[in-house]
Amino acid sequence: MTGKLRLLILSLDLCFCTGCAVNPITGEEELMFISENQDIEVGRKYAPEIEKQLGGRIDNPGLQNYIDSVGQRIARISHRPNWEFHFTAVEHKMVNAIALPGGYIFVTKGMLEKLTTEAQLAALLAHEIVHITARHSSAAISRQMGLSFVLLGLSAAGTEIPQDAGTAAALALQLIGLKYSRVQERQADVAGMDYMVVAGYNPHGAVELMQMLEDQDKVEPVEFLSTHPSPKNRIIYLNARVQTRYSSLEGLRIGKNAYRSAVLDHLPDDPFDKSPLDHLTN
Ligand SMILES: [Zn+2]
Repeated sequence: MTGKLRLLILSLDLCFCTGCAVNPITGEEELMFISENQDIEVGRKYAPEIEKQLGGRIDNPGLQNYIDSVGQRIARISHRPNWEFHFTAVEHKMVNAIALPGGYIFVTKGMLEKLTTEAQLAALLAHEIVHITARHSSAAISRQMGLSFVLLGLSAAGTEIPQDAGTAAALALQLIGLKYSRVQERQADVAGMDYMVVAGYNPHGAVELMQMLEDQDKVEPVEFLSTHPSPKNRIIYLNARVQTRYSSLEGLRIGKNAYRSAVLDHLPDDPFDKSPLDHLTN
């Protein structure tokens, strides 16, 4: 079978196998060209390459376990409690967090250094978890990268489609730079705040996170904001939500000391050269 014919058949196969999916956050049907199983396959295939592009994982099992435990605590009460989630702290100095389809979430050292409490970390991870549970990244892949991405990167009917290292790296960079719509970002902010509160975290952490990003962006452009709306409005609506939605914040966790001893005290000293991803900040 010729390559072209095989791609055409795979393409038709994808069109008939997928099409619509219900967003659990809104309860509405959305156009989706990637199935849930393909989500998992995208994550599984590209996570190692993305980890590499982000400078590799921070070599500290205690720190990784801590990030993972905060993430898992939120993931278990999300709309997809049975999905497998993976949380990884990576060496890159840029201030960023990335969610891949299939439950892979990366947080950079540059971001971790700027946070001061576990509740702020919970807010960041909850935001990224919503991008996955609502399948925002799957929709963005269909929209921004096209089905050619799926055809290039995934196997179908058990057949691996060959891919050279250069293509894999280029596709991984595209995944890192995926942009979501303003509606999706608001969904991630708002549902993320609900997630963190249900998981036992003080929602002020989400407002503080936005405030930190806004302050930081005045000093130096923040990479996270190159793919996200300005924090100004987000601070306003998140603050309003804290005031009106939750009757009591008593007993909700902030975790300043825990974050310091589990993360800030253990971050490695040598900064990773950020040049491989400089183009993303342009
Ligand atoms: Zn986002």
